[in-house]
Amino acid sequence: MKENFKSGFVTLIGRPNVGKSTLMNHLIGQKIAITSNKPQTTRNRIQTVLTTEEGQIVFVDTPGIHKAKNKLGEYMVNIAERSLNEVDVVLWLVEPSNFIGAGEKHIIEQLKKVKTPVILVINKVDMVKKEEVLTFIDAYRKECDFAEIVPCSALKGDNTEDLIKVIMKYLPYGPQFYDEDTVTDQPERQIVAEFIREKALHSLNEEIPHGIAVAIDQMKMNHKVCHIDATIICERDSHKGIIIGKQGAMLKNIGSNARYEIERMLESKVNLKLWVKVKKDWRDSDFLIKNFG
Ligand code: GDP
Ligand code: MG
Repeated sequence: MKENFKSGFVTLIGRPNVGKSTLMNHLIGQKIAITSNKPQTTRNRIQTVLTTEEGQIVFVDTPGIHKAKNKLGEYMVNIAERSLNEVDVVLWLVEPSNFIGAGEKHIIEQLKKVKTPVILVINKVDMVKKEEVLTFIDAYRKECDFAEIVPCSALKGDNTEDLIKVIMKYLPYGPQFYDEDTVTDQPERQIVAEFIREKALHSLNEEIPHGIAVAIDQMKMNHKVCHIDATIICERDSHKGIIIGKQGAMLKNIGSNARYEIERMLESKVNLKLWVKVKKDWRDSDFLIKNFG
């Protein structure tokens, strides 16, 4: 074990579009190298690993996040308290704004119950004036006792180095869990499935919360092109219609967004074919959880 080396688990939360994926991509660099083939123990738990001289940050997905709409149609995110207590640091990403809406207040109430230090990250500060950022920090500081508040731009990479330093401050001394060059512990197929799922949820604007799974039916290289057949599985016929969209427009959109990400990750051309299938109660099925989780 290296001396003075820090290591721990960090979870990143925040509403859709706030910049979670952008931040993650920026922190680990443009390329996702897949080096490790450890078996997957938890469903859809993307573990991204960032190693520096000082330590190793393992980003984990937060299981047990449930989104529901309140009476006003705002998204209310309920986070399993236990999963937040299991990590060393919680990163909460928010938009640069003075306005702290009902959705944010709801998250704050939950974060107050958590023992883990919470670092508030005010993202997209490239879109606002410098002076304004201070007022946003003040507004949030009044609402909750955050361990730290860090403004940054995930897109431009402003202040993201500082963010890493701040995270390290809160990690315990510990062993290096993964090799220096490990970026994620998920096998390729699973990451591809997760990309498609994420793009689908994004395009569907959360119309079908939690209601889809993605199965990779085939994935093979042929003449420098990666051919992928994947099936989006939903629970209801009505959902299938939404996912396909008018004249297939929605499915096409999901496919091209997902293909873009997959091409970047694999650094090769991708030929992606998407199918949609209805499988009632897939979530209760052992078979599907094992194979499509
Ligand atoms: P996620 O849903 O939280 O994963 O959000 P994404 O990472 O997909 O980002 C949503 C949108 O916000 C994308 O169009 C990003 O390019 C944009 N975005 C993310 N971070 C920043 C930022 O720091 N500044 C600006 N201007 N845009 C950003
Ligand atoms: Mg995302």
